[in-house]
Amino acid sequence: MPNRPQPRFPEPHTETYWAGAKQHELRFQRCNACQAVIFTPRLHCSACGGMDLSWEVSAGLGVIYTYSVVRQNRNPAFSELGAYVVAYVDLDEGFRMLTNVVGVANPLTDVSCGQRVRIDFEAQDSGEYPVPVFRPV
Ligand SMILES: [Zn+2]
Repeated sequence: MPNRPQPRFPEPHTETYWAGAKQHELRFQRCNACQAVIFTPRLHCSACGGMDLSWEVSAGLGVIYTYSVVRQNRNPAFSELGAYVVAYVDLDEGFRMLTNVVGVANPLTDVSCGQRVRIDFEAQDSGEYPVPVFRPV
């Protein structure tokens, strides 16, 4: 999927996240007041409302919580694809991420809930920011 839309900056919530993606790091946030894990990136803690957040780097390992196989997409960035997997992955650090599972021979049969996956970063022809995807371990 080499032609995904690129992030548009300035974007104070996600710039640090995308800077990490450029270095092939999956970054997430933790609240310094209540220690809650926060994802997707934001300016405040979703648990306590605190504004004192730190960035951490995920090991990039998790399991598929659930998924769907998209067989057709009319968006120009996706229209040339065959069937592809859209999944929620639960990372070991305790956050859930909407992503794609790639690197399977048959998306209709080779993906399952609970499957162990590892992050990968796909370079994009559309710009300098790679897109995080997951592959079976
Ligand atoms: Zn908090």
